[in-house]
This record gives sequence, C-alpha cells and structure tokens, in this order.
Amino acid sequence: MELTGKTAIVTGGSRGIGAAIALDLAANGADVAINFRRQANDANAVVEKIQGIGRKGLAVQADVGSLADAEKMTRVVQEKLGGVHILVCNAGVNRDAVIWKMTEADWDEVIATNLKGYFNYVRAVAPLFKEQKQGKIINITSINGMRGKFGQSNYSAAKAGIIGFTKSVARELGKFNVNVNAVAPGLIETDMVKNAPPEIREKALADILLGRIGRPEEVANVVTFLASDKARHITGEVIKVDGGQYL
Ligand code: NDP
Repeated sequence: MELTGKTAIVTGGSRGIGAAIALDLAANGADVAINFRRQANDANAVVEKIQGIGRKGLAVQADVGSLADAEKMTRVVQEKLGGVHILVCNAGVNRDAVIWKMTEADWDEVIATNLKGYFNYVRAVAPLFKEQKQGKIINITSINGMRGKFGQSNYSAAKAGIIGFTKSVARELGKFNVNVNAVAPGLIETDMVKNAPPEIREKALADILLGRIGRPEEVANVVTFLASDKARHITGEVIKVDGGQYL
C-alpha cells in the first residue's frame, strides 16, 4: 500500500490496536503522529519503531476529550511533519457495569473519550481536509456498537454513535474528496481485554467462527487499506474485522 508523502494522526497510538495501526501506516510509507493520555514511555517506544522503519514519528500528550488539545495537536503535526492527510480515531476506554450499577462517572468518561473524542479530532482536521480536497478518516468502532453487550451500555452507546457520526460526516465531506469509514473489530488481544474474566473470553471465543481472538495487526491491515488510494471509492462504510464473531 503506497502511503509515501502522507502524514497520519492516530489517536491512542501508544498501545494495542492504535500502536499496530501506527506501525502499519509507517511500514507502508506514512509519517505518523500518535497521541496518548498517560503512558509516555509506551508512546515514545512506538515513535522509535516508526523512526526505525525510516519514517518520521511524533508523540503528543493530548487528552482526546479536549477539542483544544485536538486542535493544538493538528497544528503541531502540520508544523513538524508538514501536513495531515489521514486521521485514525482509535483512543478508547471501557468502564463496564450493568446499567443498575453504572455510575454517572462511568457513563461520562466513556462518552467523553469514545464518542466526543472522535468528534474532537474529526472537527479539528475537517477544515483542513475540506480545504486541501484530500483526506482519509477512519473511525474505530466495535461490533458491540451494532449488537449491544451485557455490561457495556455506555461503551456500546458510544460505539453505535460513532457509526452514525461516520456516515453523517461521510455525507458532508464526500464532495471534498474525503473518505470517511469505520472499522468494527470483534475481540482483539490487547490490554483492554486481557483482564477480562476467563468465562467472558471463552464465551466470546465460542462465537468467533475462525476460532481465535484477533490480533491488533489484523485490524491495522484494514485501516491501512482504507487510508490508501486502493480504497478511494469506499466511503460511509463500516467494515467488521471480527473473525465472524458478529454473524
Ligand atoms: P488499549 O486499552 O490497549 O489502548 C487504548 C489507547 O487509547 C491507549 O493508547 C491509551 O493511551 C489511549 N487513550 C485512552 N483514553 C485516552 C484519552 N482520554 N486521551 C488520549 N488517549 C487515550 O485499547 P485497544 O487497543 O484494545 O482499543 C483501541 C480501540 O479499539 C478502542 O476504541 C476500542 O474501543 C476499540 N476496540 C477494541 C477491541 C478489543 O477487543 N481490544 C474490540 C473492538 C473495538 P494511554 O496508554 O496513555 O492510556
């Protein structure tokens, strides 16, 4: 996939799926900026790997819940890496509880990060993408946004919201040559799921037709495709990467 000359922002690129996306975009020629909330060491390690591939890398501490941070990061990336052409909204958290035990803080944090965080970054790059008549936006949602999940009403609401958001922005930016798509992973082996109780993992595993938990690189491959010119006639789509878990 040819991404030479392109610059990407990947939110939550310090770990898990975001780190795999950042590295795959770099391996395909892009310069990549990532943001992180707390784990500077993890973010710096990803930047070193990007540089090891021969691309420019940049780590910025920025909370995705802040529009001011998103606008600042967009400016910094333009100044230091020479532009922005690809945005991957990926940063997310889970604060699971059944609805009769969910706190307001659980609800608010997940919506602020997993839904408003996506608005903030898309809002920050949209004027630029519109002006340059070029851009790829890829939003990481989840199959749980399509089917709901016991104990995840906050997370599933945010992930469903991302799908409506993606389709609306695809309608608004299509005439400016900007592609806006979502990728919906099923269960993927990252920090977010490694502490899930064994019975939850086994139940999910039983639903996965391919018989195994997915790897972050398998999500990254699809994101890189959507960021490339090979996907230039795809917009407003939601592509599942779940080994058949949703079916
Ligand atoms: P991880 O927990 O492994 O990584 C989350 C990343 O998001 C970290 O880089 C973290 O930064 C960053 N982050 C979290 N909150 C903020 C914030 N407020 N501001 C900036 N950065 C933040 O998650 P995954 O890799 O598993 O998940 C990535 C995305 O994929 C999420 O949107 C998730 O919902 C989605 N997804 C994951 C699935 C899975 O099975 N793993 C399945 C379906 C969807 P820091 O290191 O600083 O905390």
